[in-house]
Amino acid sequence: MRLLQVLPLDAWHAHTVVTETKTIVVGGGISGLVCAYALRKAGVDAVVVEASVRVGGVIRSERRDGFLLELGPQSFSGTTELRKLCSELGIADQEVEAPARAPRYVLLNGKLIAVPMSPPALLTSSLLGGRTKWNMARDAFGRSCAPEEDESIASFVRRKFGAELLDRLVGPFVSGVYAGDPERLSLRSAFPQLYEAEKASGSVIRGMLRAAKASSGPREQPTLLSFREGNETLVRALAAKIGAGLRASAEVVNIAIARDRTAGQFEVRVRGAGGDETILAQRLVMAAPTDVAGRLLSGVNAELGRLLSGIEYAPVAVVSLGYRRADVGHSLNGFGFLVPRSSGLRVLGTVWNSSLFSGRARDGLVLLTSFVGGVTDAGAVALSDEKLAALVHGETRDLLHMTAAPVFSHVQIYRRALPQYNLGHAARLAAIEKSRQAVANLYFVGNYLRGPAIGSCVEQALAAAAAIHPV
Ligand SMILES: Cc1cc2nc3c(=O)[nH]c(=O)nc-3n(C[C@H](O)[C@H](O)[C@H](O)COP(=O)(O)OP(=O)(O)OC[C@H]3O[C@@H](n4cnc5c(N)ncnc54)[C@H](O)[C@@H]3O)c2cc1C
Repeated sequence: MRLLQVLPLDAWHAHTVVTETKTIVVGGGISGLVCAYALRKAGVDAVVVEASVRVGGVIRSERRDGFLLELGPQSFSGTTELRKLCSELGIADQEVEAPARAPRYVLLNGKLIAVPMSPPALLTSSLLGGRTKWNMARDAFGRSCAPEEDESIASFVRRKFGAELLDRLVGPFVSGVYAGDPERLSLRSAFPQLYEAEKASGSVIRGMLRAAKASSGPREQPTLLSFREGNETLVRALAAKIGAGLRASAEVVNIAIARDRTAGQFEVRVRGAGGDETILAQRLVMAAPTDVAGRLLSGVNAELGRLLSGIEYAPVAVVSLGYRRADVGHSLNGFGFLVPRSSGLRVLGTVWNSSLFSGRARDGLVLLTSFVGGVTDAGAVALSDEKLAALVHGETRDLLHMTAAPVFSHVQIYRRALPQYNLGHAARLAAIEKSRQAVANLYFVGNYLRGPAIGSCVEQALAAAAAIHPV
């Protein structure tokens, strides 16, 4: 990055520093950080500007009162790319793995039932009735045809396996990943493997088995990971590697195509703690959430602004409660549980953090993190912290045989937590891509493109970096 001038050019530029860089990345969540890290590793002059004082976006770990809280994602899938990245960053030795066979539960008729983790277990599980099992056999041995038009997850599951599977397993799973509404989420965008399986094989089960056989990578299921000091270790390590290329407390407030493009295609105005700055960049990587990206790009390409701003997000409240171990009668042996919407509870699911990873709670204490809200209960995030903590304790107390109130509580609200891959998402992304190509040197990374999981964000950000700077 090169300092050009500190001269007043117009009203905005009065007292504004003007600098120049090859590539500016707007947003320092995992997507922006990974893209900037990969570009700098390849020798590209790339700068990340992050509005907040801390980097990492929704990945946030905090120590409080003897607990290690995860205020955003609770763990992540150890995909090949992520594991490789952790090794490169020198943090592989800080990884902690969740027990591979930790059971996951789902609430059914007031009881927690273990989710079957294999096809034979599915057939013998009390979670599903005979009709659903028959529908599975019909899929395994029969043939069906995916409709041409975009199909919702709910209508796909009802068509193939029946309403029971949707209510008891798929709906809760969809809440766990998207905090979304299966009636509105698009199957081909949210779970493309299932859509492809039916399309390729005429059967979801045969298609999935065939895809698993054909994949050249390692066969085993990726493990669920975190780090000894929490998920934030990953973003802190990326920030350290990016070093001087990272600018925190620097909010991008305007983006325009530069009038004189000799110094750079984009003129990016940044408001920071140390004053205002204009960064002239040859390339722009937009790594901010879509509402911000849409607003900032509306002056560059109005259609892009409209398309990005139209993506819906789910609001989520993350409620961390700490208990004395002796006050919780349940064994807490497992990952936690998910809650079907038909149960009438407002809690979407609960992760038993201290059962998954060591060091999440001091001896004699346990940490449980619950999620409330989502698109089907958007009003929940307007409740006070006290009400949310009381709601979660009230709804889980009997289930987990608790005999006393929590000794600790913390609530983190996200008004826009997770992008919704709703019906029409694939068409919207195709239109975004078309408009993107009309603006030279513009790129997108983020969790609304190829999946919201951290592993998907990492893969997509690495792919974007490789497209910018092919090796
Ligand atoms: C509650 C919750 C639970 C989750 N659980 C899991 C899980 O268990 N496992 C998993 O794999 N994934 C999980 N996810 C999903 C995953 O964490 C996210 O999809 C991913 O971290 C998003 O990263 P991102 O960089 O794309 O976006 P973000 O993290 O949103 O980062 C965007 C960044 O842009 C910055 N920004 C915004 N405006 C500006 C501006 N004007 N100028 C400069 N910077 C700006 C923001 O401050 C932010 O840092 C969860 C997400 C949430 C919210």
